[in-house]
Amino acid sequence: MNHDGRFAPSPSGPLHAGNLRTALVAWVRARAKGARFLLRIEDLDPQRSKPEHERAQIEDLRAVGIDWDEEPVRQSERHDLYAEALAELERQDRVYPCWCTRAEIREAAQAPHGPLPEGAYPGTCRELTGAQRAEREREAGRPPALRLDARSGSVDDFVLRRHDGAYAYNLAVIVDDADQGIGEVVRGEDLLETTPRQLLIADLLSLPVPAYVHVPLVTDDEGKRLAKRDEPGIEPEVIDRIRAEAEAMVRRLDP
Ligand SMILES: [Zn+2]
Repeated sequence: MNHDGRFAPSPSGPLHAGNLRTALVAWVRARAKGARFLLRIEDLDPQRSKPEHERAQIEDLRAVGIDWDEEPVRQSERHDLYAEALAELERQDRVYPCWCTRAEIREAAQAPHGPLPEGAYPGTCRELTGAQRAEREREAGRPPALRLDARSGSVDDFVLRRHDGAYAYNLAVIVDDADQGIGEVVRGEDLLETTPRQLLIADLLSLPVPAYVHVPLVTDDEGKRLAKRDEPGIEPEVIDRIRAEAEAMVRRLDP
């Protein structure tokens, strides 16, 4: 079995204790099996990704004792891979353009549309004719987002590439994990609900699927989940606490 693991932060702010604990769990599980561990910078969003956050995150990971094999890869340097995956989905006639604004989707999503969860995209642009598409493009005055025609009933027609050209997390992450030979993904349970979307893409592209381990989020004393911190650099007692928590979690996860 492939136990190669990875940690894949987005450099939109300093890591918080929950991110670091997830990273430690992933790293301990991979290293305990003698497997590779990789670092991938998920900087798909050019507006929110900052080199100074990337530097601070790497420092914090080193501070808790995590190491990785190979140079970290950046998603911003891997657009060719995602374009190739998108082209394959287009060949399968599973991609369509969408000009909907957030407000339009919210409004349309209020109407009942089968078993999809609240806020799901209701497929407004799926059946547009060529003439209707031209009209939408003219009205919107911007390029469309590209959505997957999911046809599954369990996930909605989610975005593959945004209107500004940024590739979507759900596409990039499954392509990257396959390309990097990742066998096990440890991540926060907030990403659990994205997994069916990634599995659908993996299925359509015949990509291998890693094993997923979703770990509970770290919450504050009031039960609220932690946000990204304001300041990089972690105090030693926090590092000790995170390590102890991560070790306890690895013991629980590993029968
Ligand atoms: Zn639309």
